[in-house]
Amino acid sequence: MPGTKTRAVNEAQLHELPEGLGGAHIPPTPLQEFADALSQLVTQKFHELTGGLASIHSRHKALAGIIMSRGLDARQAQVVALSSGTKCISGEYLSDQGLVVNDGHAEVLARRALLLFLYAQLELYLSTRHEDWERSVFVQLKEGGFRLRDNVLLHLYVSTSPCGDARLHSPHELSTQLSASKHVVRRFRGHLRTKIESGEGTVPVRGPSAMQTWDGVLLGEQLVTMSCTDKIARWNVLGLQGALLGYFTEPVYLHSIVVGSLRHPGHLARVLSRRPASLGPLPAAYRHNRPLLSGVSLAEPRPPGKAPHFSVNWVAGTPDVEVLDATTGRRSCGAPSRLCKHMLASHWAHLYGKLSTRTPGAEDVPATYCEAKLGARGYQAAKQQLLAALQAAGLGTWVQKPPEQDQFPLRP
Ligand SMILES: [Zn+2]
Repeated sequence: MPGTKTRAVNEAQLHELPEGLGGAHIPPTPLQEFADALSQLVTQKFHELTGGLASIHSRHKALAGIIMSRGLDARQAQVVALSSGTKCISGEYLSDQGLVVNDGHAEVLARRALLLFLYAQLELYLSTRHEDWERSVFVQLKEGGFRLRDNVLLHLYVSTSPCGDARLHSPHELSTQLSASKHVVRRFRGHLRTKIESGEGTVPVRGPSAMQTWDGVLLGEQLVTMSCTDKIARWNVLGLQGALLGYFTEPVYLHSIVVGSLRHPGHLARVLSRRPASLGPLPAAYRHNRPLLSGVSLAEPRPPGKAPHFSVNWVAGTPDVEVLDATTGRRSCGAPSRLCKHMLASHWAHLYGKLSTRTPGAEDVPATYCEAKLGARGYQAAKQQLLAALQAAGLGTWVQKPPEQDQFPLRP
């Protein structure tokens, strides 16, 4: 059911939005008020968890949170994943055992933290007690697998425009840093962009090669990572759940995105949810999601000072934040993060074979992380379709990390 209509943010359309929990009618909340409430929820939770403004770990240049609500009612909204950060791993720290986090940008970590929350919600179905199933945000489907309950909505809050094309064309940076090169900006408008290793900016993807090589990176070739703008655009087609959770659940999409500052709504909508313009029919349950987009009434001031080298993450159900050194992709003590591939894979392996899946007939138990990812057939088909459509639209080739990093064995 591909979403072909654009959902512009205006008062009239708010009345089409979902009703509250249990069928009770909740009057439509004006979107701005709702967006402001989400922004406050995330900011307050972050300060509560990091010990207030005076604490070192509350320093950040970008803050992101994923909020879950029941309908569009801020009184029934809770932050489920939270993170800060603006840096990526240095190529020399890549791991072939899935023990590092490559991308320490806030919105990317917030999605990974959300995965932990979703695994915990699926784990409730391992219980034999019906009451535990009722507590889950998922509902089990007759045809196999799960989906989010009808009125459960997910929202992404980011304190600043995502890096990449969304930020490049934001009013602030156009008027200051890029005025001399506006023609270059126009030429690459909407183009896929990559973050540069140890740097803050992004550059358009170059060349037809979609794959980086392990030995090349170890020999000092720059490790590149797709920009947050492009990753969010991808979530709007493939969902937030990724390949592994795609075994169990239908794609999980964002209902809205709230950006705290540097907002340019028309451009944000174009780059986050309308590229490529046409995708063709997607596998069952996948769609081209067009989330509502909103700013906040009072734009967030940009925090002064240099960007810290750490990233902070938190997920609902855990008491404390985890602090990562974004350059090494590990905790400062050297231990792997709860958000690394290895840890997420172990949650997956814990459920595989025990819960009903959307991929009947997958009898061969995957031996490696890579095999498990490739086995999520609907997800992989949608991904190939998206990447091919981006390329066909002249927007560039999605660059992948060296494949060696996904070849580690799975241990239940
Ligand atoms: Zn970013």
